[in-house]
Amino acid sequence: MRQEPPPPFCPTPDCDSHASPHGWRFKKKGFFARARGPRRVQRYLCQHCGRSFSTQTFSPTYWLRRPELLKSIFWRSLSCSGLRQIARELGVRPLTVQRQVERLGRHCLLVHEEHRPKNAPQEPLVLDGFRTLESGHYWPFDLNLLVGTSHFVYGFNDAELRRSGTHTPKQLERRRELEARYGRADPQATRRAVEELVGRLVPPGSTVEIRSDDHQAYPQAFRRLRDRTIRHQTTPSKASRTPRNPLFPANLADLLLRHGGANHKRETIAFSKRRQGALYRAAIWMVWRNYVKSRSEQRRDAPPGVAIGAIPRRLTVEEILASRRFPWRQEIKGWLEHCYFGRIPTRRLGRIRVHACAYAI
Ligand SMILES: [Zn+2]
Repeated sequence: MRQEPPPPFCPTPDCDSHASPHGWRFKKKGFFARARGPRRVQRYLCQHCGRSFSTQTFSPTYWLRRPELLKSIFWRSLSCSGLRQIARELGVRPLTVQRQVERLGRHCLLVHEEHRPKNAPQEPLVLDGFRTLESGHYWPFDLNLLVGTSHFVYGFNDAELRRSGTHTPKQLERRRELEARYGRADPQATRRAVEELVGRLVPPGSTVEIRSDDHQAYPQAFRRLRDRTIRHQTTPSKASRTPRNPLFPANLADLLLRHGGANHKRETIAFSKRRQGALYRAAIWMVWRNYVKSRSEQRRDAPPGVAIGAIPRRLTVEEILASRRFPWRQEIKGWLEHCYFGRIPTRRLGRIRVHACAYAI
C-alpha cells in the first residue's frame, strides 16, 4: 500500500498546536473505507485539540461524492459551457456542477492569493471594468480587473451598476418598478470597488503606473489612496483595440473572459444568476490565465506567472488541485473574505446562500 505523507498541520483553525513551540503531536487512528478512490483513508487524531481528521481533509476533493469530476469541471467552466451542459455531459445534476464550481472558485481565490506578488507590481498595470450582468438584463455589473503588461491578472472585484443606455418607455417603466422593489445600485460602487482593488494589490508606500480609459470614478478612487503614488495614464475608450493600444492587456483579458465563459456571452441564457457565481468563475479563469495558459498557445510558451517570477514554471491543473487551501492560513480579509465565503449579494435575491460549513470551509 502507498505510504501516505504525514499530515502537514492540524486542520482546526483555533488549535493550540499552531502556537505550540514544541511542534505538533498527532497519532494515527485507524482507517476508513470510501466508495471512491482512494478507498482506504488513514485517520489521525490531533493530540492538542482532540479533533480527528484524515488524509482526505487535505484534499480539495474533501467530502465530495464525485471527486473525480473536479478536474473536468475546472476545464469545462473555461470552455463556454453552461452548468446544465456540463451536467449533461458528466451525467450529474446541475447543482452538483454548481457546487463544484463554487468549491473550485474558493480554492482558486486562495491559490492565487498564495502565488501573487505581495510587493508592489513591477510593471505598468491596466485597469478595466469588464461589463457583464447577473440575474437578467436589468442588473449589469462590472468585473474590475487589474492586469499587468505581462498579462498577469493581479486581481479583480465587482461593482454593481444601474442599467444604462437607450430604453423604450416600457423598459424605463420596468426599471422603475424593479428599483422601487429592490433598490438602486450605489452610484459610488465603481469608485469604492477600484479603491478596494488597488488598495489590496498595491501596498502602501509604493509607486505604480496605472493605465485606464477615461472613466471618471478612477481618479476619484486613486485620490483616496493617498499613501500610494499612482501615475495615471488614460486612453480614450474609443481608441482602436489593437495590440498597440496601451490598454491591450485588459482588452485581451476581456476577450478571453468572454470567449471562454458561457455566462458572459451576449444574449445568453447562461448568464450568472448571482454575481457571486460569476466571481467564483472569474477566480478559476484567473488561475488558469496566470499559471496554466501559455501567452501564445501556438508557441506553447510560459504563462504570465512565470514571466513575472511568481512561479518557477507552468503549473498543471493536477498541481493546482493537489492540496486543499484553508482560508484561515492566509488571513484573507475585506472583499476577498466576503467573496470567499459567498457573501457578495445579488440585489434581486433577498436571501443568499453563504458558504458557512463548519469543516468543509
Ligand atoms: Zn488540533
